[in-house]
Amino acid sequence: MVAKAYAFAEKKHAGQKRKTGEPYFNHPIAAATQLLKWGLDEETIAAGLLHDVLEDTETTPEEIEKEFGEKITAIVKGVSKIGKIKYRGKEAQAELLRKMMLSLSDDVRTVFVKLADRLHNMKTLGALPVQKQKRIALETAEIYAPLAYRLGMRELSGELEDLAFPFIDPRNHEMILKLVEKYYGKRERYLLKVKPIIEEALFRGGINEYEISFRAKKYYSLFKKLKKYGMEIENIYDLVAFRIIAPTLEKCYTTLGIIHSLWPPVPGRIKDYIANPKPNGYRSLHTTVFCLDGKITEFQIRTKEMHEEAENGIAAHWIYKRAGEFNKIKYKNLSQLSKEAEWVRKTEKQKTDFKSAEGFINALKVDFFKDRIYAITPKGEVIDLPAKATPVDFAYKVHSLLGHETVGARVNGKITPLNFKLNSGDIVEILRQKGKKPSKDWLGFVATESAKDHIKNYLNKKERIKN
Ligand code: MN
Repeated sequence: MVAKAYAFAEKKHAGQKRKTGEPYFNHPIAAATQLLKWGLDEETIAAGLLHDVLEDTETTPEEIEKEFGEKITAIVKGVSKIGKIKYRGKEAQAELLRKMMLSLSDDVRTVFVKLADRLHNMKTLGALPVQKQKRIALETAEIYAPLAYRLGMRELSGELEDLAFPFIDPRNHEMILKLVEKYYGKRERYLLKVKPIIEEALFRGGINEYEISFRAKKYYSLFKKLKKYGMEIENIYDLVAFRIIAPTLEKCYTTLGIIHSLWPPVPGRIKDYIANPKPNGYRSLHTTVFCLDGKITEFQIRTKEMHEEAENGIAAHWIYKRAGEFNKIKYKNLSQLSKEAEWVRKTEKQKTDFKSAEGFINALKVDFFKDRIYAITPKGEVIDLPAKATPVDFAYKVHSLLGHETVGARVNGKITPLNFKLNSGDIVEILRQKGKKPSKDWLGFVATESAKDHIKNYLNKKERIKN
């Protein structure tokens, strides 16, 4: 199927050129290569190859459906639909996010293809006119990067931000580059001095299989943090952090103990995201210690599985879950493919069960949508909520005062009752009335603990005043 999509798209894009001057077909190949790197299935890779034929060639959806079936057609159509919304300010942002959330619940692979498409476009953004560069870079930083982050694809999210940064804010980008150049070397020399001390302690603690590395903070994320901390780079403790990959979950905690026996932790900076994962599924132990010579240093400790998940999110999660049930299916017609198409040959080695596209989507839906919904504020901010959440939960999540003062809600432009069950992709506008107080009845339908707490706290306070 991948070979067929390759030939089909190559023919359709024949003669077209990108703004960079290279053949247009290089772009779908790049997108498909990325999808392959994320370990996705053959339908997604085929859709990646075909993702621009509707938009940029004479191809009709019927033609794709006839050749490649309903599912691939749906993905390609979805990608074209998302591509038509242009980022112009907050309203378009909310609409774009809504469309993406909806395609997420339809077939999450649509969003994977769109992300792969955007990543390659960002890598070649320099070839576009300046005005367009800025719009696309902003859209990338404000929509695609946060979306990737929510899907747990942290590596991609950071990469998208760093690609956008020089186009959004060239002066600060320049400033960060200089700053990092100055501090990074110093920091790295220090960590190299610390490393043998850790290795020795781990060895004595009976931890033999592990990996230890440094991870440098990405530029844009560093810039955001600097802004938060008054531009003082000395206050950014995780500029370069240690990362230890431990063999098992238990050994993560043992490793944490060993680190703390070497150097005292900074109070309030130990974070157990293994026991309490972040909403996007991120798992790891973080600690910050007064390290060698009293220098404050951050450590991240996790297993290999957690690490893959942290970098590649739900895609990695799915691959791990299925690792036990792989069937090796080999392509027979691979040899017919163009020799330059190195990535296609790699599919042969990929231990992916291509028959399980269905299972793949279901696994993603179960993992990603069973327990969470993602609703959107009119300004385009995504609010992460548990299933069955209502506008009241939404309001409390935005701000406790907004929760208290809620009198009604408009969901996708329609007035809804306060116990309405929200869906992913809903744009929720809370109608408030100053001085309005929460009602006891709300306790009967709110889904979040935090909303319950806020309401109960208010009611208890009222009770106390009365007595
Ligand atoms: Mn494209």
